[in-house]
Amino acid sequence: MFSKILIANRGEIALRVLRACKELGIQTVAVHSTADADAMHVRLADESVCVGPPQARDSYLNIPQLLAACEITGADAVHPGYGFLSENARFAEILEAHGVTFIGPTAEHIRIMGDKIEAKLTAEKLGIPVVPGSNGAVKPTDDAHAIAREIGYPVLVKAAAGGGGRGMKVARSEAELDTALSTARAEAKAAFGDDALYMEKYLSKPRHIEIQVLGDGQGNAIHLGERDCSLQRRHQKVWEEAPSPALNVAQRSKIGEVVAEAMRKLKYRGAGTVEFLYEDGKFYFIEMNTRLQVEHPVTEMVTGIDLVNEQIRIAAGATLSIKQSDVVFEGHAIECRINAENPRNFTPSPGTITYYHPPGGLGVRVDSGVYQGYRIPPYYDSLIGKLIVHGRNRVECMMRLRRCLDEFVVDGIQSTIPLFRDLLASQDIANGMYDIHWLEKYLDSKE
Ligand code: ADP
Repeated sequence: MFSKILIANRGEIALRVLRACKELGIQTVAVHSTADADAMHVRLADESVCVGPPQARDSYLNIPQLLAACEITGADAVHPGYGFLSENARFAEILEAHGVTFIGPTAEHIRIMGDKIEAKLTAEKLGIPVVPGSNGAVKPTDDAHAIAREIGYPVLVKAAAGGGGRGMKVARSEAELDTALSTARAEAKAAFGDDALYMEKYLSKPRHIEIQVLGDGQGNAIHLGERDCSLQRRHQKVWEEAPSPALNVAQRSKIGEVVAEAMRKLKYRGAGTVEFLYEDGKFYFIEMNTRLQVEHPVTEMVTGIDLVNEQIRIAAGATLSIKQSDVVFEGHAIECRINAENPRNFTPSPGTITYYHPPGGLGVRVDSGVYQGYRIPPYYDSLIGKLIVHGRNRVECMMRLRRCLDEFVVDGIQSTIPLFRDLLASQDIANGMYDIHWLEKYLDSKE
């Protein structure tokens, strides 16, 4: 087992990883920018190292500084959390070259899944159903119109290097295709420095359902069921739940087994998520994330399995501690992402938290790095915490969630807590009847 883990992240996820390390008796090193000197993950870590100025590219993304921090502290492994360098194959390689274990999959698997075109071709080879589309990149010299006609309108133009919903454009008809291609290409080039594009069928009313997997890199892999992340705003998840209101037990184990088998063939190592769109009873692969996800606690709540603990054990060379038959799904869990934003127009609301009171009680988990008197810096994403609630069934879970949202006090800044109170009053939410467009339509109707 590792003796000391450096956590190359900040905020709630740095704290989440730190907690898993402490429970395993592993020493922790926090890294932070000058803007995060008084962050909770820094306070609770055994050691901390300042790795640079506020801008992420100079600190949390600064590979030489992070390597130096490993060297100074004698850390033997790095947990990258999510975001930042968590899906950077070069970072994984550089660490390994310096004798430091990257807690995650192989650099090769990160690279394959980081390129959406490559990922889709690989998924297909592994027997995972994919969205019909261009088989591979659409080059500027290709007859894009012919490819789109073949797929059938509406089509979605997507960036191979895409992420966070950027570089994605819908063309509803032939007339819109050239504009969609040129704007997606420009956006992809600007955001990712890579303008490779592909096209796929635009599904009109899918749900976003993703499967959590764990593999040990030795050919063993299991699935931990699904999360329904259909409630999105601008392709960003807002509310996630497990199990999906749209799936039954048979459908869950069927898609879960398809994914687990694919991960066995791939000899995948660590935690990963295979994301699908789900429409009319069918699953369509969109991408795989080769890291821990923001919404992982939802799965932890319904399975009782600590995903970060598993990641660490696997990275240290252990085989899976659980068999598929040991995975038991119990009850229902919902996560609300609490952002420091205006709950109506979603403009960021950084500042000082003057009063903070998180909810508690049975089945309640709050993953957050904030505290009373904490000043939210303006340099990073606006996630200030996640409220995750578990109940024996969906109805109990929603009742508990409503109670928690009433208890939750965050003063001094604006937060998205009121949005969730509103959502709980919606009949569609109560019935679990929503697709990936539901939230935006709902927000438009409130304006
Ligand atoms: P990113 O990595 O940028 O988040 P994804 O491929 O995961 O991109 O897609 C993000 C979101 O975009 C999905 O959750 C879904 O809402 C929407 N989306 C992606 N592909 C399609 C598609 N073929 N049809 C309809 N919506 C899609």
